[in-house]
Amino acid sequence: MGSKFKKLIYLDYAAATPLHPLVKKAMERFWIDEFGNPSSLHQKGREAAGAVEAARKTIARIVSAQPREIIFTAGGTESVNLAIFGIARNHGDFKSSRGSSRGNRPHIIASAIEHECVLESLRTLKSEGFDFTLLKVNRDGFVDMNEFKKTIRPQTILVSIMYANNEIGTIEPIAEIGKLIGRANIARAKNKLPRIVFHTDACQAAGFLDLNVEKLGVDLMSVNGGKIYGPKQSGFLYVRTGTAIHPLIYGGGQERGLRSGTENVPGIVGLAMALESVQKNPQAENARLLKLRDYFILKVLQIPKTFLNGPAVRGWRLEVGGWRLPNNINICFQGMEGESLVLYLDAYGICAATGSACATQEAEASHVLLALGLTETEAKSSIRFTLGKSTNKKQLDYVVNVLKKIIPQLRKVTPLEKITSH
Ligand SMILES: *Cc1c(COP(=O)(O)O)cnc(C)c1O
Repeated sequence: MGSKFKKLIYLDYAAATPLHPLVKKAMERFWIDEFGNPSSLHQKGREAAGAVEAARKTIARIVSAQPREIIFTAGGTESVNLAIFGIARNHGDFKSSRGSSRGNRPHIIASAIEHECVLESLRTLKSEGFDFTLLKVNRDGFVDMNEFKKTIRPQTILVSIMYANNEIGTIEPIAEIGKLIGRANIARAKNKLPRIVFHTDACQAAGFLDLNVEKLGVDLMSVNGGKIYGPKQSGFLYVRTGTAIHPLIYGGGQERGLRSGTENVPGIVGLAMALESVQKNPQAENARLLKLRDYFILKVLQIPKTFLNGPAVRGWRLEVGGWRLPNNINICFQGMEGESLVLYLDAYGICAATGSACATQEAEASHVLLALGLTETEAKSSIRFTLGKSTNKKQLDYVVNVLKKIIPQLRKVTPLEKITSH
């Protein structure tokens, strides 16, 4: 459906962000002038290697790590795969040494609302003999700490919980989980049980939240550039010193042997610059987005038969022990299909999303919304708006007006009964 309107209102920043103009400028010279291979001994190589190491230092400083703990990858999915398979392969000898009966299988814990790159990795590992448990979340999307404690087994080797959810903006209590795992590991060392490695998928969090790995208590952290005004297919995995992890990609031994292949120098330079830019002084932009978010939510909820998915908005910090990303809005418009609504909005020049970007090819209801307890119909009637640097109040007023106009029409076209019968 082409846009009939000149103006375009982009409200899908959780799926993709435009490259920051300064990031673009910084990247350019590494394609054309400073194109060398960082592994080369000559001047062109040293130039490129210098840029990669400077980027590594920048990122290490921002996340309070050592430069050697930053492993560059080609995006969030790769970082997550490296984290999960990299730790699992460290326990790949379990079949021969301890037998493969169910009770002996290495065990992984994740939340039920993780990104597909986590869930698919776990499903794949299951077919290879590993076991995993998905933690239930409450109506706001928070994992339950008591349930988490009960889920830990002697065989647990890895916990992977996202820092912030891409669909509903829930910010999980990562530091609290990190502390709990830290305490558990002290006891486990005494009992000669495997150390539990803690990974967090911080792809949605990196643009807004504190990434200090010490405060978070994480051993592994995945971040990508494409969600923070950096280049797509850029990312890194933080790997705490002492964490035994295997590579996914073998070859020339770049990135301490954890990610072979000639480095994407422009991507790495762009990633570091983008991260520096979003992490410089996030409070001001977060506060601006928060105000816009709450303004928009209150206006949209004036439309009958609508409700908010994810943490209730009572400001930035919520009493329930967690938070919601300042740019995330996810609303159920009962009695219509979210997909139709997104297409209608597109015709008005408004870009919104159903579920996560990756799931849009499938007509399935979002696993995140189902995990909150929504019915399949409610989940399919929900859409996500995510705000960003170019979002302003005028744009949101326009969107509210369009919604008020088209929703009664859409409810006539696709009454609830029709959706339910699908
Ligand atoms: C986008 C996203 C990913 C995947 O990152 P890519 O760079 O697209 O591979 C992983 N986790 C979360 C939470 C995301 O939002």
